[in-house]
Amino acid sequence: MDPEKVKDLLKLQDVDQEILRIKRRLNRIAKERKDLETRIRELEEEVEAFRNLYKELTNRRKEIKEAIKEEEEKLKLTEKRLMMVRKDAEYKAVLREKAKHEDNILKLMVDLDEVEKEISKVEEELSEKESHAQKRIEELKEEIEDLNTEERDALLKIEELQKRREEVKKDVDGSILSLYEELKDKLEAKLVVQIEEGICSGCGMKVPDVIFSKLIKENSIERCPNCGRYIFYKL
Ligand SMILES: [Zn+2]
Repeated sequence: MDPEKVKDLLKLQDVDQEILRIKRRLNRIAKERKDLETRIRELEEEVEAFRNLYKELTNRRKEIKEAIKEEEEKLKLTEKRLMMVRKDAEYKAVLREKAKHEDNILKLMVDLDEVEKEISKVEEELSEKESHAQKRIEELKEEIEDLNTEERDALLKIEELQKRREEVKKDVDGSILSLYEELKDKLEAKLVVQIEEGICSGCGMKVPDVIFSKLIKENSIERCPNCGRYIFYKL
C-alpha cells in the first residue's frame, strides 16, 4: 500500500477517533445527568419527609387541643353536679371525678407544651431546609441545562463528522476500507499505528524481524500479526 493511501486512511481514522471521543463524552453526559437528577430527587424527598413530620406534629397539636376542650367540658359538668349533690358519698365521688379531669387537663397541657416546642424547632429547620434545597436544586438544574447544551452540540458535531467521514471514505481503497471497517468494530483504539523501536504501538508486541525489515525497506504498510492493526514505519 502506498503512503498516500495510508494518509487517506489516517484521515479516516482521525475522524473516527473524534467521533468515538464524542460518543464517550455523550455516555458520560448521560450518566452525569442521571446523577444530578438523583440528587435533585433526594433533596426533594428530604424536604418532603420534613414537611410530613411537621404535618404530623400539627395534627398531634390539634388532637391535644381537642382533648383539652373535651376534658374542660367534662370538668364544667362535674362542677355543676357538685353543686347539686346532696349525699356525702356521692359528693366525694364527684369530687374525685373533678380531680381526675383536672389532672388530665394538666397532663395534656404538658403534652401540648412539648409538641409546641417541637413544632417551632421543626418549623425553623423546615424553612431552612426548604430554602437550602431550593437553592441547591436550582444549581443542579442549571448543571443539567449545561449538560443538555453540551449534548446538543456534541450531537451536531457528530452529524458533521459523519458527513466528513463519508467524504474522506471516498478516497480510501475499497478493499482497505472494508478491512478497516471490520477491524474498527472490534478495536476501539487506533487501527493504523506506527512502529516504534520495532514494537507495534497498538498492542505493544514486538513485530517479527521479517516484517520489520520489509516495513523499512519497502516503506510498506503491513498488518501486525498479533492485533491485526495496520502498521507502518514512516510515512
Ligand atoms: Zn499489534
